Amino acid sequence: MAATGKSCAIGRFAAFLSQRGLRLTAQRRAILDAVFGTHQHFTADELLVWARALDRSVSRATVYRMLPLLTESGLVRALDLGKNSKVFDPNYADHPNHNHLICENCDRIIEFESEEIARLAEDIGRRLGFEVTGQKLHLTGACVEFGARGTCAHKGRRHGRSG
Ligand SMILES: [Zn+2]
Ligand SMILES: [Zn+2]
Repeated sequence: MAATGKSCAIGRFAAFLSQRGLRLTAQRRAILDAVFGTHQHFTADELLVWARALDRSVSRATVYRMLPLLTESGLVRALDLGKNSKVFDPNYADHPNHNHLICENCDRIIEFESEEIARLAEDIGRRLGFEVTGQKLHLTGACVEFGARGTCAHKGRRHGRSG
């Protein structure tokens, strides 16, 4: 889903910008490439590092001004995981109804989609006279190895970029 999703998301965001009279500058383009070049969830500071790797002129201020635009466009969502810094998720452009498993030990975030949950949500909505139009389920816990070894393989790797 990376290649098609990426160019499509960038095109949609460019249209969103032009509706607001904003141009897709080189800095903004580098930020977009960083955002939609990954399926990883990121903090503002991580995004700054990634975008600067693509274009050294990207400023912190531009990143911080871009994030509200990205969330307003609906292509990126801010996840409230109860942590100090907000985590942003670039995967809603392609997968608007995905859910998350969140490890409380290593902060790993695993995404999943479930037809069964979607059906269940519809059933619940029907029963309560409500039309369900979206789902975002956050399940918290720990990676299985945490129980056995007391730590996660992923621990401390939060800031690496794997994909
Ligand atoms: Zn996600
Ligand atoms: Zn873990």
